[in-house]
Amino acid sequence: MINRLFHSFNHFYMIFKLRSIFIGAFIFCSLLVNAQKKPNILIIVSDDHAYQAIGAYGSKLMATPNIDRIAKEGVLFKKAYVTNSICGPSRAVILTGKYSHKNGFYDNGNLQFDGSQNTFIKELRLGGYQTAWIGKWHLGSAPQGFDYWQVLPGQGNYYNPNFLMMDGSSKRVEGYVSNLIEDFSEQWLDTRDTSKPFCLVIGHKATHRSWFPDTADMGKFESVNFPFPHNFFDPYNTRAAAKAQDMTIDKTMVIGSDLKMLGKNRNTDETVKRMNAAQREKFDAYYNPIEAEFNAKKLSGKSLVEWKYQRYMKDYLSTAASLDRNIGRALNYLDKYHLTENTLVIYLSDQGFYLGEHGWFDKRFMYEESFRTPMLMRFPGVIKPGTQSNDFVMNLDIASTVLDAAGIKSPNDMQGESILPVLRQKEIKGRKAMYYHYYENGTHSVSPHFGIKTSRYKLIRFYEKIEGWELFDLQNDPNELDNIFGKKGFEKITLDLTNQLKSLIKKYEDVEAEVILSKGIN
Ligand code: CA
Repeated sequence: MINRLFHSFNHFYMIFKLRSIFIGAFIFCSLLVNAQKKPNILIIVSDDHAYQAIGAYGSKLMATPNIDRIAKEGVLFKKAYVTNSICGPSRAVILTGKYSHKNGFYDNGNLQFDGSQNTFIKELRLGGYQTAWIGKWHLGSAPQGFDYWQVLPGQGNYYNPNFLMMDGSSKRVEGYVSNLIEDFSEQWLDTRDTSKPFCLVIGHKATHRSWFPDTADMGKFESVNFPFPHNFFDPYNTRAAAKAQDMTIDKTMVIGSDLKMLGKNRNTDETVKRMNAAQREKFDAYYNPIEAEFNAKKLSGKSLVEWKYQRYMKDYLSTAASLDRNIGRALNYLDKYHLTENTLVIYLSDQGFYLGEHGWFDKRFMYEESFRTPMLMRFPGVIKPGTQSNDFVMNLDIASTVLDAAGIKSPNDMQGESILPVLRQKEIKGRKAMYYHYYENGTHSVSPHFGIKTSRYKLIRFYEKIEGWELFDLQNDPNELDNIFGKKGFEKITLDLTNQLKSLIKKYEDVEAEVILSKGIN
């Protein structure tokens, strides 16, 4: 009897023990599944890439099948904007989720980004992510808070660029910059710790000035004659700051260093002199006949501007071709390693760019072409494929959006908002108006300015270089050619916009703008 009782007890104990092991194993597996559920994050940031040159945005200038793929499989933001349209400051906004006056990186001048401040990267790392930034960084100081980084010094070079490494060394690598940045990104992914989710930022140099295409893409658009944007010959009537700038294709773009008609300077050009013999042979074979023809034609006036515009477009779009191809490589990598389904992919430029609108190249202004930026996201299971969004979203929102996707709460002092709720539930509306502030008062002579954009209007206050206001009715004047500030009949809307601007300035705590605005609206 005792024996039987003991046997039963033993039997019961064994079942209990097995059950405990089973429950333990179940909890362990659940944790593992949950850990794996954290999405990977791939952010691709290009430089000066215009939405006017992207197929998904309706461009007829060139095909961009790989960026278009993100639109097909995710969302195309048709109204994505930046808070300060210039390279380094835009990256600082992306990293911190804060306006320039809060993160301290106002302009590309002599400033250095204070890397000790919080970023979404640091938050992700605390949340168990493995993090890396590879490619163009352009923030002055060394990256902080990353498990790995490998960045171009400053603007970097298109050919055989140097890369700054974490150990403080600088290594020169043979090849074309867009291909190399993708190569190194894939190498990092190959060797990452696969027990953790990753966040990789690929920072492309393309399509920054001086638009040196890969040798494989030279001549890609040779037979194309690009039509002028209809406002190419803009007389800048009613817009004093637009008149005062120094960024026209006509007067500012350099025939030598920008358009590669280098003559005797060819051997001393910063990019050309880095080329190896094979690259140089292809460069000469392509540009020599163009330069010979250009010299023979002795162009001037309108025919010279026309020629410059055509050359600009050919070089810019050929440089963009390699960018798109390398974005395709990154997407293919995710496919190959079955990462596509569990990875949030974000593509954006640091700002938009002028492709001849108002006669310009470059960026800076709060006018649409540089204020807007291409932005696309793919997040399987969250974002419905083929979504086209007209919500006002900003580069300011990237930090909070990524943290939201990772299930990490955004710090209270981040000023952006996660875009995901708007995408998940369409009844939630995003912001009604956007605030912009540009500071740099130097290269290209663009006056500092701040302003507000609503669905119909844009109100801008220029200061320092040019003092004055501009108001545009974007419904009647989408190309922003007619400044209606101070005109009869617009008093009420001006007052309304000024009040909205005041409340945004207060919300974002932009003290400098508040002081300027306190002087009144005349
Ligand atoms: Ca840029």
